Amino acid sequence: MAFQLPDLGYAYDALEPAIDARTMEIHHTKHHNGYTTKLNNAIAGTDLEGKSIEEILSSLDMTNGAVRNNGGGYYNHCLYWEIIAPENRGRISGPLADAVNAAYGSYDGFKDAFSKAAATRFGSGWAWLCAHEGGKVEICSTANQDNPLMPGIGCGGTPILGIDVWEHAYYLNYQNRRPDYISAFLGIINWNVVEAKYESSI
Ligand code: MN
Repeated sequence: MAFQLPDLGYAYDALEPAIDARTMEIHHTKHHNGYTTKLNNAIAGTDLEGKSIEEILSSLDMTNGAVRNNGGGYYNHCLYWEIIAPENRGRISGPLADAVNAAYGSYDGFKDAFSKAAATRFGSGWAWLCAHEGGKVEICSTANQDNPLMPGIGCGGTPILGIDVWEHAYYLNYQNRRPDYISAFLGIINWNVVEAKYESSI
């Protein structure tokens, strides 16, 4: 079965003022939808058809630009919609808080490192919080639609949190002020979901 554009689970305007409704609508119905369609076209009739997106990305031939860009775009945006929420977001706690504190000293230390990774990604890309087997967490960033599941990307583990820093994710509202978007994003993270992803990844 072909990959499907997921529903968000909340309205396009539900994340305002952090992310405006028009940005959400275009991002979901145009950008993510485009990656989904192009991924399906790229794998149709190949031996990748029928595999999970995680299987496709973790064994990816990195010279396959169509699957790299559109498979990454499909997966990355599915994660992005899932780890932000308008309400019932919880707060960082439990084993994830322990791992973040071990790696970054405190929640503020994590925020600084994550914000820096997102702000200093030149051009288009993503910043990630990844979980490694054994429980360690790592912040890193990748270019374009690459992600930590892909081989040889210099950033590993399972992504449990990701911020899209392509201009299409923030430009209508924030223009060149990427740091303001990053700061707003940190306020709408659904820690309940991130925590669950952490616990199932380690
Ligand atoms: Mn995007």
